Amino acid sequence: MAYKRVLLKISGEQLTGKHDSGFDTEHATWLAREVKKIVDNGQQIVIMVGGGNLVRGAQIAGGGIHRVTADHMGMLATMINALAITDIFEHNNVPTRCLSNIFADQVAEKFVHRLANKHLQKNRVCILAGGTGRPYVTTDTAAVNLALELDCNIVLKATKVDGVYDKDPASNPDAKKYDSLTYQQAVENPAIKVMDKAAMALAMEHEIPILIFDALKEGNIVAAVSGQPVGTKIS
Ligand code: UDP
Repeated sequence: MAYKRVLLKISGEQLTGKHDSGFDTEHATWLAREVKKIVDNGQQIVIMVGGGNLVRGAQIAGGGIHRVTADHMGMLATMINALAITDIFEHNNVPTRCLSNIFADQVAEKFVHRLANKHLQKNRVCILAGGTGRPYVTTDTAAVNLALELDCNIVLKATKVDGVYDKDPASNPDAKKYDSLTYQQAVENPAIKVMDKAAMALAMEHEIPILIFDALKEGNIVAAVSGQPVGTKIS
């Protein structure tokens, strides 16, 4: 079943592309072209952008930096990524708006529920910056939260591997991939680290499915939005 409206969560790490750190414009250009196929097909897409390529709050807190400030810095990092993606998408003829939960009027529109809905109905991609706008959570939780707020049919969580395995496939050649899991299995299994437990618990409570998949593979984002069997579906 093809989804009408999806939320794609992209981590900062994924945006580094072929580089060791920072932002890879070539990779973002590739992403723009993949997303364009979805938009041209009349499907609506919201993208929650991470910031881990620049700042992760939990890692830099300490030594005088309060955790709240560190998380503010992390949210600003997501804005930096979101601004770059927005420009690159528009440059590639993908109508796009950047909406931020950190209010910085000079650089991005404020995230307002009705405004985001209006953009999506006009077939514009909504790039979400600033996560939830609150500290002590990550953009995984923000992804589920905003997907619920915007009535998305599914959260597509982009990862480096093509789904959830019973053990790390990088070091275990016999690792087995799951095609589907229940929320309960995903929350209870300590080996499953593909998404924050807080995000998973929120998805479980409100029964929004999550697809863990390899978004870097050509055609996979389109396949995921079309409801084709890629990755691991948690529902
Ligand atoms: N962050 C936050 N609240 C949010 C979302 C993010 O405080 O709602 C901060 C947090 O410090 C986080 C950082 O922003 O570490 C970057 O986001 P995240 O670590 O989720 O990025 P990713 O790992 O997906 O690249």
